[in-house]
Amino acid sequence: MDITVNGLSKTYTGGAAPVMAIKNCSLKIKSGEQIAVTGASGSGKSTLLHLIAGLERADSGSIKYDNTDITEMSQNKLDDFRLKNIGIVFQSFNLLPEFTAYENIILPLMLQSKKIDKTRIDKLAEYLDLDSRCEHLPSKLSGGQQQRVAIARALANEPTVLLCDEPTGNLDKKSSKAVIDLLFNISNKLNVTLIVVTHDESIAKRFDRIITISDGVLGGDIQ
Ligand code: ADP
Ligand code: MG
Repeated sequence: MDITVNGLSKTYTGGAAPVMAIKNCSLKIKSGEQIAVTGASGSGKSTLLHLIAGLERADSGSIKYDNTDITEMSQNKLDDFRLKNIGIVFQSFNLLPEFTAYENIILPLMLQSKKIDKTRIDKLAEYLDLDSRCEHLPSKLSGGQQQRVAIARALANEPTVLLCDEPTGNLDKKSSKAVIDLLFNISNKLNVTLIVVTHDESIAKRFDRIITISDGVLGGDIQ
């Protein structure tokens, strides 16, 4: 699906003074594109990603997946849309500690009482270099392996878009590179749109398209 963001704004009003985190942002992302979003800490990267994921609600503007505007959806519809179409990966891996890697990966399918296609999940684990680790608990996995489980979990539902917020923020250099390699690989193999938020320039530079954000305002693409 193509993603079209138009005139998006978001202000946080909870604190002492309101914070305009996203200011009138417009953006087009084609199906299957791989883009990096970069900017300083506090520039609005996570807010933008959360809005695109439907995890936060915008104050104004639209976010369309093809012709479907998620800003107009009821909460139930939005939750359902997200579960079916959007995979999300965070800096902290957010795995359930008492479940094995495999059980963590199939969690989104269990939540929907979907039939588990074990062959497909095994293939996903293989793509993410996890096949020998599936029966381990997260505590027995390295940071890089845990993040790869989180990526597999985000892909379990066969989403059309994978949104990653500083996916390598908790990893050393070598594991970071491996995780980004796998993200590119899997995005190509499964034709999944890839949006990676990062403040790490060396990671951003690997993408064909880089979008910058500064103080809630999108800059031009660096191509
Ligand atoms: P980044 O991911 O680029 O570091 P964020 O999107 O997290 O930036 O934050 C953008 C701005 O919005 C910052 O000034 C931050 O302090 C503020 N902000 C983020 N989340 C909240 C929140 N839940 N309540 C109030 N302010 C917030
Ligand atoms: Mg952030």
